[in-house]
Amino acid sequence: MAVEHYMPDFALERAYDLTVTSLEKHGIKAVFVDLDNTLIAWNHPEGTPEMRQWLHELRDAGIRVVVVSNNNYDRVKRAVERFEIDFEARALKPFTFGIDRAMKRFGIQPNEVVMIGDQLMTDVRAANRAGIRSILVKPLIETDSIKTKPNRMRERRMMKRIIAKYGPIEYKTEI
Ligand SMILES: [Mg+2]
Repeated sequence: MAVEHYMPDFALERAYDLTVTSLEKHGIKAVFVDLDNTLIAWNHPEGTPEMRQWLHELRDAGIRVVVVSNNNYDRVKRAVERFEIDFEARALKPFTFGIDRAMKRFGIQPNEVVMIGDQLMTDVRAANRAGIRSILVKPLIETDSIKTKPNRMRERRMMKRIIAKYGPIEYKTEI
């Protein structure tokens, strides 16, 4: 497990901090966003006004937003249909299946898209494998569902290795 495979291009406090201006600055036309704990907190499935506002701003600017989630079709559909976002379920991150499907479906080139997620081991690894840029965000809530706990332990070990090699990751408010 090479550390650089898990190194994000950017780190942000929250997905909603990502502005249209900075996306345009980086030539990014599409945002692939992880669902659980990145776009929506698992204990807060209805989302927040802030999140809806962010989705509107991106869409108004012509930036395509696609949820790329490892969860199953029904679960992802139920979670995002009220927000009218496109999605790819069963993405199989850390592999590139979901990312590749979304790029193909919407005719997006690798240099035009960024993947946002809260996990190094899945979101960032999949983005790096697919040759697209990535943004690591802090999980929306610290207390995880039981399912992601083993992942979090691997996550912490990888973060230690990243810090040892590159120094601490600085979570910014802008990319
Ligand atoms: Mg997540």
